[in-house]
Amino acid sequence: MDWTVFTLISWTEAYFARHRIDSPRLTAEILLGFCLGIRRLDLYLQHDRPLEKQELARFKTLIQRRKNHEPVAYITGEKGFFESSFQVGPGVLIPRPDTETLVTTTLSVLDENPRNPQKILELGVGSGAIVISLAMAHPGHLFFAGDISLSALETARKNAAREKEIGTIHFFNGSWFSPLAPGPFFDVIVSNPPYIPSSDIFGLAPEIRDHEPITALDGGDDGLECIREIVTCAGDYLVPGGQLILEMGFDQKTAVSALAKTCPQFDQIHVIQDLAGQNRVAQCKKKID
Ligand code: GLN
Repeated sequence: MDWTVFTLISWTEAYFARHRIDSPRLTAEILLGFCLGIRRLDLYLQHDRPLEKQELARFKTLIQRRKNHEPVAYITGEKGFFESSFQVGPGVLIPRPDTETLVTTTLSVLDENPRNPQKILELGVGSGAIVISLAMAHPGHLFFAGDISLSALETARKNAAREKEIGTIHFFNGSWFSPLAPGPFFDVIVSNPPYIPSSDIFGLAPEIRDHEPITALDGGDDGLECIREIVTCAGDYLVPGGQLILEMGFDQKTAVSALAKTCPQFDQIHVIQDLAGQNRVAQCKKKID
């Protein structure tokens, strides 16, 4: 049988559905578009295009990778997030739509502050999706972004280099605040740290558990180990009135608020919900005095 774009999409959709792969038709279209180097829309404009042997062979490997639960974003090497698209690979967490709430919250905090330029620190930069989205919106501010993983920093630097209109980002290597000297320096500290309890990791979808970097997900016994370190140290690095903006698990509101209340430097704590209505972002403001 001669395969065309149309027959191949239909066959792949059924194959993915049989193997319980999420969104089987969309996945088939994204992977075939990627394989042929054309947009999804063009698949429909070229629906009766016959596939060449090499194209078929290439597509077959992509289908097998997805059937083995490799995330689509790692296969295509790209993930859309906020207003841009970012290169991703197994060394970095794939940016989640939930995390856009961290970006929009931070953008409104930056907008409310008349100080110019502001200094913004991101801890645990991964692909760079968060700090780059902020630096694209505020090219005049100064950005600092750290990660313990050198391969993540390499990806983040590459992603930053792809954008033209972007603020300066100083990348650095190290665990959370450890490479930085304490002092009232940053207007905003933002982070999406690992926050999943270690015992929950095994129960995650194979796409996450078997493919994404566990160090970017595992928050220790209670899921709060990294959050605790960041919340307890952040006050020493923020200017008076500065804010710590943290992503957290949907069920961590009480624990994270209680943690922030134990830090006398913070006098206001808010929790913001993501677009799915889940508690997702904690915003802690340092006292002005
Ligand atoms: N929200 C992510 C997930 O559910 C976890 C991200 C994180 O630990 N920072 O996979």
